[in-house]
Amino acid sequence: MQCVRRASLREAYVEMVCTRGFSPTFSRDPRDAVNTFLAFAIPYSSVADREQQARGLNIAISRIRRIPPSSVDPTVKNYHWLDLVAGLFDAYDRDAENVVLSDGEGGVTEGPGFNIFAARGGALLTPDHGVLEGITRQSAFELCHELEIPVSAGALSAADLVGAEEVFITSTAGGIMPVTRIDQRPVGDGRPGPLTARLSALYWAKHEDPAWSTAVDYGP
Ligand SMILES: *Cc1c(COP(=O)(O)O)cnc(C)c1O
Repeated sequence: MQCVRRASLREAYVEMVCTRGFSPTFSRDPRDAVNTFLAFAIPYSSVADREQQARGLNIAISRIRRIPPSSVDPTVKNYHWLDLVAGLFDAYDRDAENVVLSDGEGGVTEGPGFNIFAARGGALLTPDHGVLEGITRQSAFELCHELEIPVSAGALSAADLVGAEEVFITSTAGGIMPVTRIDQRPVGDGRPGPLTARLSALYWAKHEDPAWSTAVDYGP
């Protein structure tokens, strides 16, 4: 809150990062490192820009596999992102704007800084393994309950994603954002869908609701 106040930002993106830091003696034993903490506020920015928000994102499903949970626990937010960045380059090479990585077993996981949801038969599904359980993913669950939209976490195959009626991604950086092309094929009718629109509208409305938000005190 102090970062936002000091930067005088009315629409801010805030990040808090713990780093391992360095060892003062250049020891290679990570236990000797002196940890650091940093926090910053910058003007709010989104995974999808304004135009992409309006027409929906064009994403690719990458053959690149998300680092498996047995190697790096994805439920701990981390910036061990070389798989995600390699996936982005793979997507750009295929004329897509963003990417979701596979789980190596026919399923999809998540993308660089976002979770993914797919609608089939009016019910939403999001991957239950190999992902960060993002706070916006959690908010999407709560908003679905309020709107009485069936939602669950489970295995989401690449085929289910491609054949979905609607697809959206969730992130602190942008909220609930539509995906309208996957591997150069339209999702549903190729336009942002009604479930996505309802959830996104409610997500932003909750920013004014004290039950869901904490007001920033900008001081005198
Ligand atoms: C940050 C992040 C997300 C989204 O999490 P939110 O808490 O909703 O912002 C999803 N996946 C990865 C890999 C992330 O780093």
